[in-house]
This record gives sequence, C-alpha cells and structure tokens, in this order.
Amino acid sequence: MTTVGILGGGQLARMMALAGAPLGLRFLVLDSVADACAGQFAPMVVGDYTDEAALAEFASRIDIATFDFENVPAQSAQWLTDRVPVFPNPRALGLTQDRLAEKTLFRELGIPVPDFMDVADRAGLDAAVAKIGTPCILKTRRLGYDGKGQFRLRDDRAETLDAAWHALGAQVGRTGLILEAFVPFEAEVSVVAVRGRDGEFRTWPLIRNWHVDGVLSASLAPAEFSAGLEAQATAHARTLAESLDYVGVFALELFLRDGKLMANEIAPRVHNSGHWTIEGAETSQFQNHLRAVLGLPLGSTRMVGHACMLNWIGAMPDAKPVLSESGGHWHDYGKEPRAGRKVGHATLREDSPQALAETLQRVGVALERVDQVAPVIEALRSR
Ligand code: AMP
Repeated sequence: MTTVGILGGGQLARMMALAGAPLGLRFLVLDSVADACAGQFAPMVVGDYTDEAALAEFASRIDIATFDFENVPAQSAQWLTDRVPVFPNPRALGLTQDRLAEKTLFRELGIPVPDFMDVADRAGLDAAVAKIGTPCILKTRRLGYDGKGQFRLRDDRAETLDAAWHALGAQVGRTGLILEAFVPFEAEVSVVAVRGRDGEFRTWPLIRNWHVDGVLSASLAPAEFSAGLEAQATAHARTLAESLDYVGVFALELFLRDGKLMANEIAPRVHNSGHWTIEGAETSQFQNHLRAVLGLPLGSTRMVGHACMLNWIGAMPDAKPVLSESGGHWHDYGKEPRAGRKVGHATLREDSPQALAETLQRVGVALERVDQVAPVIEALRSR
C-alpha cells in the first residue's frame, strides 16, 4: 500500500486524491488549516509547513511527497527530501518560487520573456521604469499568485511611481520586487506537461486561457493556433523540464503577441488550466502527475473532443444548467463561499467547436454568466 503525502490541502490535492483512488493509492495531506477541502477525502496532519513536529509526523506516515502548493518554504522541502522521495525536486520548486530566478532561467534557455529588472529599493524602481518603459507591471518576486502582489504602471509620472511604491514598496525586504514590461498580448496560452522519473515527456494540447482581474476565468482546449506555435510551446516546456530535471506535472504560461510566444511563468504542480483533462483527455493531469512521481507508465494525453473549463469564483452557481448538458461536468470543491476564492469549476465537452459554442451559449445564459463565456464562444466561432 503506497501513501502519497501532499503538501497543501486545497482543491488540487483533493482532485489528486480522487484521481489516485483507482490506482489503489492512499493519501495524507499537510495543511495549516484544519478545514482544507482535501481533508474531506484524505486524512490530514494539521500544521504549518515550517513546524518540524508536523513535518516529522507527516514524513513518518508517507512513502513519497508532492505538492498542491508551490510556496512551501525551500528548507521544509529539503528537510523532507532527506527523509522521503520528493517530486518535483526542491531546486525546481525553489526556482519557480522566485519570478526573478525563473525569468533569468527562461532567458538563459533561450525562451523569450518580457523585459524585466530586479527592483531592490525606491531608486531601483525609477531606474527600472526608465529602462523598461511604460506600461509595465511591478510584482513581488515571491509569494504572488492569481494577480495578487502586482501593480500596473500606465505611465512614468512621479505620482504613478509613488503609488506603485506605496502599494508594494513595503514588501521589498520580505518578497523582493521585479519590474516587467507589460505585454499587450493577443492571447494567453498554457502548456500542461508531464515528465516521468525516466525522462519520458508528454504534453496535453495547447490551452487558451482568459483571466479576469488576474484570476483564471476560462480555459479552452485545444487552443488551435498553428501547429508551429504549439510545437514551439511544447519545445519550451521540454527544455525547461529537462533543465530542471523535473518529475511530475507542471504548467508553462505564455503570452501570444504578433504570432510569437513569450513566457510568463511556470507553475510547478497540476494547474487550473489543466482541469479540463479530467473529462477531456485520455488521462487527466492529476492521474499523470501521480503516475510520474511514482515511476509508473504515463498515460496518453490525447484529447477527446473540445473542452471548455469555467472557473467558479466566490460562490457556486446553480449546477442544473451544466448537469443537464450531455457533456457537462460539475466540480464543487466543498469550500465555504468567500469573495475571490476558487470554489469550483465546470467542464463542458463536445465533439466539435460549433457544438461547444452552442452549449456554452446555453449555459452562459442560464447561469447569467454571458460575459464569462463570450470570449470563448468568439474564439470557437472564429475557427
Ligand atoms: P501572474 O501572476 O504573473 O500569472 O499574472 C496574472 C495575470 O496578469 C496574467 O495571467 C496576465 O493576464 C496578467 N499579466 C501578468 N504579467 C503581465 C505582463 N507582463 N503583461 C501583461 N499582462 C500580464
């Protein structure tokens, strides 16, 4: 009997536990919050990621460890690595925790990135804005996610720089800061990829994503840009995976501008833009992650039809309009509603882009979410 330990007990851990059940796996989740939603399906150790007693108990009850949350302190990941196999490795985890290290690696590997500069103090912000130009985005180097810890500068007036520093300057000692050029992208895409312990590498079809206020709102697969673009995105993901000796699933998020790709960031874990793989692919990202970290053969990442995932933020809508669709799938994470919180998602799957556009139209109207489905329908109809 193999027990997989998961650091972090959110919806990703929960969906991993559900995907691992048919493989006969057991799970143990470590989270600082007792009502973390993965705890509804797996036993938990409640404690902070830096609490050595909690980590020791966790390590003593598992055969292997992985993550649902990438901001686990590097020391804790290393401490665990000395006791049990941990995938992905702490180096890959540590690198993706720091936007500056991550973008520097992209650049070293020849993967295009928006211009960026480290900002160490207020004068550094002036210098970075002078070099990069506006519009640009000031971001925390560490601990930012879903658009949190970001400030957009539309111009280089003194008031704008003051406002940016007022918003994030206090973070400089704790998280570091980075200034990035703003990319007026035509589309955001992601590649979800998996690499096995033996180096076998697979990707799911390229995914198109739409964000609202920095948070993922909808994903569409396949994205159906040119085959050349998909090959380029896949090649970048493979280069990164090999350079980091990565084992497991990760997502590479990219901007598409003037027919070219630019990397934004890597998420060293199963990813929200890959949730559609549960019903839309031969093997889901969750099951392939487990197969990869356990050294089992990877499953096919072949897609079945066309899929759109809609995120539910804040509160769950009525399930019936989605459940009434033959290709409709509902995921309620069992969380308390709270503004800005990811509480669930739906995946709509159909055999053709036209059928998917019609289904999304019906669901969007029934749930009063026309704005959320509109850009996806437009992308499907432009094919
Ligand atoms: P991040 O936390 O870096 O993934 O940012 C969240 C979202 O903010 C991205 O998915 C984009 O929609 C937007 N964003 C972040 N960085 C940039 C950038 N350099 N240029 C344009 N949009 C950006």
